[in-house]
Amino acid sequence: MSDSGFTTQTVHFGHRSDTTHGAVHAPIHPSTEYTYHDAHELAAVFQNRKKGYTYARTGTPTTAALEAQVNAMEGGNGTLAFATGMAALNAIFFALLRQGDHLIASKYIFGNTNSLLMTLENFGVELTLVDATDAAQVAAALRPNTRMVFVETIANPGTQVADLKAIGDFCQAHRLVYVVDSTLSSPYLRPGRDFGASLVVNSLSKHIGGHGNALGGAITQTGLYDWSDFPHIYEQYRKDDAHTWGLLQIKKKGLRDMGGTLSSDIAHRLAAGAETLALRMDRICGNALALAKFLETQPQVVRVQYPGLASHPQHQRATDFFGTRYGGLLGVVLQPEVDVFACLNRLRVAALATHLGDNRTLILPAAHTIYFEMGPERRAQMGIPDGFLRISVGIEDEIDLLQDFANALASR
Ligand SMILES: *Cc1c(COP(=O)(O)O)cnc(C)c1O
Repeated sequence: MSDSGFTTQTVHFGHRSDTTHGAVHAPIHPSTEYTYHDAHELAAVFQNRKKGYTYARTGTPTTAALEAQVNAMEGGNGTLAFATGMAALNAIFFALLRQGDHLIASKYIFGNTNSLLMTLENFGVELTLVDATDAAQVAAALRPNTRMVFVETIANPGTQVADLKAIGDFCQAHRLVYVVDSTLSSPYLRPGRDFGASLVVNSLSKHIGGHGNALGGAITQTGLYDWSDFPHIYEQYRKDDAHTWGLLQIKKKGLRDMGGTLSSDIAHRLAAGAETLALRMDRICGNALALAKFLETQPQVVRVQYPGLASHPQHQRATDFFGTRYGGLLGVVLQPEVDVFACLNRLRVAALATHLGDNRTLILPAAHTIYFEMGPERRAQMGIPDGFLRISVGIEDEIDLLQDFANALASR
């Protein structure tokens, strides 16, 4: 099985061995608690000596099936599911970092993650934001107390492509935990392991779930990092293979103690959505490239930020990393004289909504919505001008999308 293709793996993985009645989907387990006939066994499960379930806050057989599916996509040695992508990120930072630690993060990241890092600073974590398209900037930020480096593969919303491989090599040389948020590329374009990531984060709400009907997040441990190099693993989690300690601590200190738990019902929806990730991504990437090329030629457009365009600063790197698929997110900056809101109101196919990685094309004026709260200074630092439109391209018929945008731009 493991040498079969991505979608073969995804639709067949994990249900052959342990479902009853030949069901192709894992059953949706509603139980909050899990009982044992033998008290010894109950204790063994609590003490991590035996695999099993205790209380649904730390997982159910249904969330475990989703975890196995995502883990297979990422090629990890373990995956944990969460209620949202943000819950997954919180679990990593708060379970692993301590006051006085230094975190190096890309300055080109999702707005809510940026906001979370500000909160982390208030808990005494030192933060340096760098231009992660250049690994030398990450290296220059190194301090004796640096513990972790955080980047997004393709940045939301600016589409900057981090110097992922070189940063991975740097983290390995300095024994730093390397956290890669793979939400915009998804494991289909490239597993984070290939860049040397220690932990890979996916918002399952986006491409992996794909249908705009379920929130979720996942952390995959790639097995590349030796956690005996990390000073903050508690004694009780230093058991067995040192390449597994980090995720166990995240499960206990993050998922169990913080409680950002995914429910079984939602895990089932996400697992069903994930089966078609490759099909949707192929279509989305094709549509996005066509739309990017079209918009780039329009006089009302200052620039289009899309890694698939030759004009993108990291186009060559994106091609080296991801081949000919560049994801579904476009940043479009309109000419100052274009009435952005009037233009948006003329769209008939693309929906005015936040979210990304959906079957539907979604668009929003970033500076006025998701990046409004952080203010103009921070927006300037992150490269988000007022006329910046974030477009998440969907699976519609290409011609309909191009016509929709042609119509919206035509009359100004
Ligand atoms: C949406 C998003 C998240 C957060 O995921 P949620 O499931 O919405 O909490 C994290 N990182 C990136 C890059 C995202 O786009």
